[in-house]
Amino acid sequence: MSSQVDCLFCKIVAGEVPASVVRESERTLAFRDVSPQAPTHVLVVPKEHYQDAPALAAGDPLAMAEVISAGAAVAEQDGIEAFRLVFNTGAEAGQSVFHAHLHVLGGRALSWPPG
Ligand code: 5GP
Repeated sequence: MSSQVDCLFCKIVAGEVPASVVRESERTLAFRDVSPQAPTHVLVVPKEHYQDAPALAAGDPLAMAEVISAGAAVAEQDGIEAFRLVFNTGAEAGQSVFHAHLHVLGGRALSWPPG
């Protein structure tokens, strides 16, 4: 499995950094965001390292599909019917961890457009 030294989410996948894991599959791990922006704020990551969502979609479409399915499953686990799935892509769009991750946000009214 490809992982990167000094990648925070690779370390969480490897169990080297603790996280509140809510779901796991062959290719994905889902854990609660350390700084939640909504009652449900979970990050779903591919276990393999891809720097962002387009790289994941190009490199492993099955894992991308699994990430999105896991996001919906997390919302169902938390009893949420309406939710937002977000991939921040690039620093200007708010990406701060360069290991592809899906934000699952819900449990409160969410405004649009986002800031
Ligand atoms: P981004 O800004 O890249 O779209 O999202 C990165 C997310 O990772 C942020 O929402 C941030 O709160 C979260 N995060 C940063 N460090 C940690 C950590 O050590 N553990 C967990 N669970 N989440 C983290």
